[in-house]
Amino acid sequence: MSLTPSHIIEYLYCPRFTYFEYVLAIPQHEEKDYKAMRGREIHDQKLERNKDYLRKRIGVKEKHLDQYLTNQYLRGRVDEVLLLHDGTMAPLDYKFAEYKDRIFETYQTQLYCYAWLIEENFQQLVNRGYLIYVRSRHKVVEIPVKEDNKKLVQEAAESIQQIIQNNFYPKATKYKKRCVNCTYRNICTR
Ligand code: SF4
Repeated sequence: MSLTPSHIIEYLYCPRFTYFEYVLAIPQHEEKDYKAMRGREIHDQKLERNKDYLRKRIGVKEKHLDQYLTNQYLRGRVDEVLLLHDGTMAPLDYKFAEYKDRIFETYQTQLYCYAWLIEENFQQLVNRGYLIYVRSRHKVVEIPVKEDNKKLVQEAAESIQQIIQNNFYPKATKYKKRCVNCTYRNICTR
C-alpha cells in the first residue's frame, strides 16, 4: 500500500488508528463537511500561488511547482520544491489559514514527509521547509528539518507497512487523553 503524509500523521497520533482503519477496515468518521471544505481550500490556495516576492525573500534559485513525488513507501503532492542559494532544497506548503503563534505538529510532519520525498527524488539535502499562511498576509514560517525528523517519518512508514502486511496489533498511544474522543475507544483494548 502506498502511503500518504496523512497515514503517517495518523500513525504518529496513535498507531492503533492504522490497525483499525487499514487492517480491520473500520473507517473513521470524518466530519461531514470536511471534504467540501478541503476542496474549497485547495481552490483558494491555487489562486494564491505564484508569489515571486515570497520566494525572493527566502532566497530561491529555482522553483518546481506542484510536484507529485513518490518513493518506495510514500507519495505526496508538494506545492513547491525550492532550490536555495546554499544548494539545499526545501518544500514550501501553502496553508489557507491564519498563523496563531504555534505550528501544528501535523503541518510539521507533512513537511518532514516532503523532505524525505525530495531528498530521494532530487538527490539533494533538505534541512528546512516553509509554510505560507495565506490568511496572515502570506506570513512565511521557516521550519527546521533535522535528520531525526526525517528518521521519525521513515520509521513510521516502515511500522505502518508492518501493521498492514502482518496484521500486527500495535501498542496504544501513551497519551491517554487522546482516547477520550476516539472513534475506536469501544473496541480498543487499552
Ligand atoms: S482508544 Fe486510544 S489507544 Fe485506542 S485507538 Fe483510540 S486513541 Fe488509540
